[in-house]
Amino acid sequence: MKVVIAGAGFGGLETATCLSEALGSDVDVTLVDKNDSFVIGYSKLDVMFGRTTAEAIHWPYRAFAKAGVTFRQETITAIDPGARRVTTAKGTYDADVLVVALGADYDVSATPGLVDGGHEFYSVAGAVKLRDILPTFQGGTVVIGVMTPHYKCPPAPSEAAMLMHEYLTGRGLRGRSRIIMTTAMPSPLPVSKEAGDAILARFEQLGIECHVAVMPTRVDGAARLFHLSNGVALDYDLLLAVPVHVAPPVVLESGLAEGGWIPVDRATLRTRFPDVYAIGDVTSVGTPRAGTFAEGAGRVVAAEIIARSRGGDVARYQGDGHCYIEFGEKELAEISVNFLGGPKPTSEYIGTTPEGAARKRLFGSTRASRWFGL
Ligand SMILES: Cc1cc2nc3c(=O)[nH]c(=O)nc-3n(C[C@H](O)[C@H](O)[C@H](O)COP(=O)(O)OP(=O)(O)OC[C@H]3O[C@@H](n4cnc5c(N)ncnc54)[C@H](O)[C@@H]3O)c2cc1C
Repeated sequence: MKVVIAGAGFGGLETATCLSEALGSDVDVTLVDKNDSFVIGYSKLDVMFGRTTAEAIHWPYRAFAKAGVTFRQETITAIDPGARRVTTAKGTYDADVLVVALGADYDVSATPGLVDGGHEFYSVAGAVKLRDILPTFQGGTVVIGVMTPHYKCPPAPSEAAMLMHEYLTGRGLRGRSRIIMTTAMPSPLPVSKEAGDAILARFEQLGIECHVAVMPTRVDGAARLFHLSNGVALDYDLLLAVPVHVAPPVVLESGLAEGGWIPVDRATLRTRFPDVYAIGDVTSVGTPRAGTFAEGAGRVVAAEIIARSRGGDVARYQGDGHCYIEFGEKELAEISVNFLGGPKPTSEYIGTTPEGAARKRLFGSTRASRWFGL
């Protein structure tokens, strides 16, 4: 069976790994990504705050050596879901089963004035730029603005705010600085009242201001004003932004997307095209955009492909995931959520523990070793 996996992020890597583990060279998997390496999402915060180098966070795809899987570093220029054909700058790949795992792109220009007036910190390039800007900052008002309710890793802006507090304290600048976070959501983490309240309580303790349920409308870089939907305009000296997210253009042009994202059957991740699946951030499956959800979706799709070839159980996607929340470099809380297993989402919040930081390191190192043998 020929399987083409478009995108080698959390979802694509996990799908390919599960297929290889179960079927070995009995399956013919082509895994396509435009990049030469994978970067785990949260390492962008580490780069921005100078806790690691930009070079250290790349895990090279050449180390992704799995029986039955061929990695191609190629940019996908077209997807024909009816024909299950992927076209790249170098050729075409026809599949019996196509898995679309192309993630979410950013559209910084969707927020008027943001390109010139602020800095996104969600891409490696944005994080590297801020790593160089932060040491030149001499105190003032830092606004961490979330430009959309639908963004990757819901706790990340709150983490950025708390790590900014730690960073400015370390440089002796906290006394003459304000930190303000704005979010379109009703709480920093609406899925769990306990987690949202814990973040707000820590914000209060650290003197971080938080505006919830507000959408940014525009940025005036010349006047350094950040305009919100409730009519408030915040003065800022440094604006860190979570930009508007969009599906990659090749997905929007493919006919797979509706309303900007790929709709899928929630239990199976099937799209409306036979033998075409979509997983992770590129879908509108109804879970938050985070790596653990993309991985879980990849496991369900792999199980269905394996069952076709070998028989066995077909899993139903539960939309469950586990996230870490950095309250500071050495203080980490955790949250487990299940979005689709019952009539409404459930969550379990574990407050900060001394072991949290080690467990987050383990989360990264198990992926590095499982996928890349690092
Ligand atoms: C600051 C930050 C912190 C985060 N922290 C966490 C965390 O702690 N835990 C967690 O679980 N998640 C976290 N995330 C979220 C996580 O990174 C994403 O949700 C996750 O990567 C989504 O997986 P995916 O497989 O859907 O897409 P991705 O991992 O984004 O993979 C998509 C792949 O498709 C490729 N691609 C796109 N277009 C093309 C094309 N035209 N041709 C070829 N290849 C293409 C891309 O290069 C990419 O490799 C964080 C994200 C950020 C930004």
